[in-house]
Amino acid sequence: MIDTDCFIDGHVVKTADTFDVLDPSTGQVLAAVSRGGKAEIDLAVDAASRAARNWARLSARERAQHLRAVGDALSARSEELAMLESKDTGKPLAQARADASVAVQYFQFYANAVEQFFGDVIPSLPDVIAYTHQVPFGITGHIIPWNYPMQIACRTFVPALAVGNCAVVKPAEEAPLSVLAIARIAYEAGLPAGVLNVVPGLGIEAGAALSSHTGINHLSFTGSVPIGATIAAAAAANVIPVALELGGKSPNIVAADADLDLALPVIAKSIIQNAGQTCSAGSRLIVQDSVHDEVVDRLATIMGRLTIGAGPTDPDLGPLISEKQRGRVISMVRAAQETSDLRLGSADPLDREGFFFGPVLLDRVDPAAQIAQEEVFGPVVAVSGFSDIDQAAEIANGTDYGLIAAIWTSNVTTAHRLADDILAGQVYVNTYGAGGGVELPFGGFRKSGFGREKGFEALRAFCETKAVVIKVPR
Ligand code: NAP
Ligand code: MG
Repeated sequence: MIDTDCFIDGHVVKTADTFDVLDPSTGQVLAAVSRGGKAEIDLAVDAASRAARNWARLSARERAQHLRAVGDALSARSEELAMLESKDTGKPLAQARADASVAVQYFQFYANAVEQFFGDVIPSLPDVIAYTHQVPFGITGHIIPWNYPMQIACRTFVPALAVGNCAVVKPAEEAPLSVLAIARIAYEAGLPAGVLNVVPGLGIEAGAALSSHTGINHLSFTGSVPIGATIAAAAAANVIPVALELGGKSPNIVAADADLDLALPVIAKSIIQNAGQTCSAGSRLIVQDSVHDEVVDRLATIMGRLTIGAGPTDPDLGPLISEKQRGRVISMVRAAQETSDLRLGSADPLDREGFFFGPVLLDRVDPAAQIAQEEVFGPVVAVSGFSDIDQAAEIANGTDYGLIAAIWTSNVTTAHRLADDILAGQVYVNTYGAGGGVELPFGGFRKSGFGREKGFEALRAFCETKAVVIKVPR
């Protein structure tokens, strides 16, 4: 059974209108999903407000027990969730399995973390006791993209719930199914009604209604820069905080002294994962001149051997999410081809049903070119050269983004200098990503957004700090 309707206050809520969710590997309709709008968002915010009174009053330990129970229930159904995510997004099954496992880890990590989440006692005057409380905002709104629905939804709402907020979630139009399933499974696992509500629908309808709702006290948005700016404006109008997790143009920097056997498979994976539709995709490769040709030759060989197919058949590369997304990738590769060396692939779509697009490696790319500046969100890597590490840092920092970066070197000075100079929320040395990394703060510099998710930082982000000062006369 596929969940296709709003999940509000512990109930399935159907709407008069539906929208079609497609299977990207065939282009055929996978499900007709309730098209939530203002009315359903109103219902969800009301339900969350009622639930928040009790939920926020539970002890951290009681909330942690609820989260552990949901984590266990999701873990028991992880294969089913992974298959659903793979069908809905087109991503290879092994990657969807990893996402299901990370979703469970959010429940486990924040159940443990919230039990160790304390305020401070602040030294002040001799006759004064001052301490801080971490107070939940109340009702949090969460707007989710289509590329990692299950993982990103849990990344944002689980810490919000852990500290005592109740949530309203708007999943992406293209891939809402796993988030709807999680809401039901969580309720069946004992999460009280109204604590987690999910309203699928269109961005301009359900998304806009959620982000402008006066009953929402905090917004978390993961998605593109222009929509992020719209959400920030809506938050400003209601004077509520907003966390923005936006795009990236993340570089892998390969120094001449790098261990290429270690580096190249990871670099390939960083751009191929989820067909390049990853905010932290390693979409730029910046290589020191003396190893440039060897790196490009070897990467072209790895990328040329990838298997391509529907997500559930677990290929290396699945389809892109939609025809529209593929059209964008095609036009960007066409433009880039004019001014760089196309070393692998083509700007043409693959000749099969669905939204498939093969891997592309573009070499000798001008770091100022569109393909090196803007997110492609496809399996496309742009290679540029550098001579010394100052130039590498300059190129790495030469976009509007600053989400993540990786440095491949065996020289400790190069590693530290670049880690220091690069403007990014996460910097990796001789690795890329950290297996989900639920414990690592994650978020962007510059137009990659602001606010941090994951780790203990997310618990603080979903609270307001209240300072209490008590005079104790002697
Ligand atoms: P998007 O178009 O910005 O959409 C994100 C979400 O916002 C969707 O749920 C969308 O609904 C909704 N939305 C659209 N218009 C809205 C409006 N006017 N008001 C309220 N909500 C609205 O992004 P996407 O195409 O789904 O995702 C790709 C982007 O997300 C990329 O730029 C990627 O880098 C970024 N991303 C960032 C991170 C990160 O952690 N930094 C992670 C993943 C993805 P619809 O689905 O109906 O359009
Ligand atoms: Mg889909």
